Amino acid sequence: MSKTNKAIFIDKDGTLIPDIPYNVNPDLITISEEVIQGLQLLQNNGFLLIIISNQSGVARGYFPIEALKGVEEKITELLSEHKIAIEAFYFCPHYAEGAAKEYVVNCDCRKPKPGMILKACEEHNIHAPSSWMLGDILNDVEAGNRAGCKTVLLDNGNETEWARGDIRTPTFLATGFLRAANFIVNYTKDAVKTA
Ligand SMILES: [Mg+2]
Ligand SMILES: [Zn+2]
Repeated sequence: MSKTNKAIFIDKDGTLIPDIPYNVNPDLITISEEVIQGLQLLQNNGFLLIIISNQSGVARGYFPIEALKGVEEKITELLSEHKIAIEAFYFCPHYAEGAAKEYVVNCDCRKPKPGMILKACEEHNIHAPSSWMLGDILNDVEAGNRAGCKTVLLDNGNETEWARGDIRTPTFLATGFLRAANFIVNYTKDAVKTA
């Protein structure tokens, strides 16, 4: 049977929240009003919201994997004040050149690989072609495209290398989170109209 849910897969650092490299202190986590509005729009249009985040700080030995629980809880708390629900969080703790032995692997989940998205689709009955990966670097775009999703690159200055290619080309390049959300919602409505 084909999968029935649609989702927005959202990168955490630099997309959902301001990027503070390797931060796991919940007190430093903030979510902008624009992101709140964008998430509400997406949620109201029937998308599940799922976080897809590389957390190589675990493998690098910067923080224990348990610290990500606090991050998850803080984000959940900040969003629940606005009646926004995150369906699930997926973190990749791996890094091939790390220091914390058990996480030093060349895994299938570290973006640009699509492992976390594919797993989320399986676990939450998500139809990838109706879903989107939204991130601030081209590795997010590649992961989304490889998983068979549509993609939006949030062009906020965090992508600095611009290593391009077909698989790294987003469906849409957005200058802000709310614009990205509006594009996705309108694209989906147009697709329904012409179907
Ligand atoms: Mg990012
Ligand atoms: Zn991984």
